[in-house]
Amino acid sequence: MTCTSETARIIAKAVSGEALWKDELVGLLTLTSPEETEALFQAADGVRRSCVGDEIFLRGIIEFSGHCRRNCHYCGLRAGNRGVRRYRMTEDEIASRAGMLGEKLCTTVVLQSGEDPFYDKERMCSIIRRVKNETSLAVTLSIGERPFEDYEAFRDAGADRYLLRHETSSPGLYRALHPGHDLAGRVACLRKLRQLGYEVGSGCIVGLPGQTADVLAEDVLLIRDLDIDMIGIGPFIPHPNTPLGGHPAGDAGLVLRMIAILRLVTRDTNIPATTALGVLDPGARRKAFNAGANVFMPNFTPDPYTSSYEIYPGKGPEAGAIAKASEGGYAALFEGLGRTIGTGYGCRVRASRGCAETPGTGGGA
Ligand code: SAH
Repeated sequence: MTCTSETARIIAKAVSGEALWKDELVGLLTLTSPEETEALFQAADGVRRSCVGDEIFLRGIIEFSGHCRRNCHYCGLRAGNRGVRRYRMTEDEIASRAGMLGEKLCTTVVLQSGEDPFYDKERMCSIIRRVKNETSLAVTLSIGERPFEDYEAFRDAGADRYLLRHETSSPGLYRALHPGHDLAGRVACLRKLRQLGYEVGSGCIVGLPGQTADVLAEDVLLIRDLDIDMIGIGPFIPHPNTPLGGHPAGDAGLVLRMIAILRLVTRDTNIPATTALGVLDPGARRKAFNAGANVFMPNFTPDPYTSSYEIYPGKGPEAGAIAKASEGGYAALFEGLGRTIGTGYGCRVRASRGCAETPGTGGGA
């Protein structure tokens, strides 16, 4: 093995479950040697296996509204983009779509939207109750920042989990990309959600302008400190009708290193191979499953809405292909990975922090 002794030391320290210093995280994030990168991925794969096992959990996503009141600089759904066909799904449409997820082997539905006040507290609670009554799915919400009393009401109505990416741990970058909002407000939401008993998901975009390895190391530390249960990491993909339309896409290799590092640091969390990674590079999404990921989120937004929920370009065809996936379709997607499709809810099972036995024989490390 051709790891430098320093890289091998950091990887071994991470595998043992010892907390890494920020400069050690930066060291792993900036690896360039293919052999060392492979050693990192193998170490993360081993910790994944010993902490969360070989199942890949499917969370079916329904993007039920393309309206958004916010103006995030990277997102195609931003209020300022006049070129979007906006839509809203009715409660009946959402419930009937959720009703088919069971046969698609999903045990969770993720209800996602822009920040759309049309779905006020009562309307949202009614949708949650209906899905909980009519299906046996776990319900995950991904609908942005809301008053805390809404989060409480959604929880009372039966919502199990909430996804709210912190997007970037740099307060300055956060402010620049989210006019009128700040990181502290986002983090306060995450803390409140945790306090209310949700399983909480967060994560960041990789490849934002001005984002250094130092900032990404801070992202890892923030996720660790907030004790996040589900971690979504995706590459930035430029959308032409946004202020960042001319900025290059994020680097798939760096996304994979983030996933691997987060698996090593957080051990027993749920980490998806994200849609954005698949859109940028389907091969990289497959690789993510060998570098720490254990969740897949097939898109079940129905036509004609699916092509209108364009947070970044290229999502539509990807979603269409996967929505048609039967059991056989997934088999093709996961072929050769040596994994099974999860049958339970795939909640975070808090293993002891020491859940990682030495993974395998240490792979190539
Ligand atoms: N309104 C919800 C859902 C947002 S869409 C919320 O605020 O949480 C889900 C995620 O897509 C966002 O959190 C963001 O991380 C990601 N996203 C948006 N635009 C993107 C782009 N151009 N490239 C990559 N990821 C993007």
